[in-house]
Amino acid sequence: MPEGDTVWNTARVLHRALAGARITSSDFRVPRLATTDLSGWAVRESASRGKHLLLRLATPDDAHWTLHSHLRMDGAWRAYAPGERWTGRPAHLIRVVLRSPGAVAVGYHLHEMTLVPTAEEDQVVGPLGPDLLGPDWDPAEAVRRLADHPELTIGEALLDQRNLAGVGNLYKCEVLFLRGVSPWTPVGEVPDLPGLVSLAQRLLAANRGRWTQSSTGSLHRGQTSYVYGRRAQPCRRCGTAIRKEELGDRVTYWCPVCQPEHPGPAESG
Ligand SMILES: [Zn+2]
Repeated sequence: MPEGDTVWNTARVLHRALAGARITSSDFRVPRLATTDLSGWAVRESASRGKHLLLRLATPDDAHWTLHSHLRMDGAWRAYAPGERWTGRPAHLIRVVLRSPGAVAVGYHLHEMTLVPTAEEDQVVGPLGPDLLGPDWDPAEAVRRLADHPELTIGEALLDQRNLAGVGNLYKCEVLFLRGVSPWTPVGEVPDLPGLVSLAQRLLAANRGRWTQSSTGSLHRGQTSYVYGRRAQPCRRCGTAIRKEELGDRVTYWCPVCQPEHPGPAESG
């Protein structure tokens, strides 16, 4: 599932394949860009902001444009050598093909693909909070934005990219487990918001540069998460069955014992 770290990795793959090169042909397979031709354009750089992918380009007369795409749940970019077989996904999912002398970049199932002047990137990216993997990561600002809405559940607030950019459902579930916080806790009642934000950042950063996402430290299949995707399986800490329920418009996974809804001393009687 693409979260901030996956998008960061994807941006790096595209950067290595295309940055500094001139596009020799482009083939857009979405109606909005069907007549767009990027032949002769240069690729300046590839970057990510939160879960948005930004391929920054220059026209032959050096006007700066950005090809924006969003991976959502199922999108992907792959880079191939010229002549190499495209092994990524079925051909009908291809949304764009960009060729340069040294590489072919293929975008599969991309969402919200648009071409905008680089100066107007903010309009497509939207009002994003501090980017967990960005050069300008600002934990205090992320905490401030979260704390601005103390009545929201922490499970929903962590996914709102206007608070902090890059956390998806997997890291949301895992961070809350690791901090012993129920996803239904109102933000205003979370004991240590800065600690939680800091852990989210470290988890994403630790997974940068590889494609298997792990919060447990293990890269073995079936052992990479504490709660995410583990409904009815025993909690790795206490053995209680992990639960799964809808929270907002997403599902959430949690351990009802390790993440009590009302933390405090155990009741007697
Ligand atoms: Zn547990």
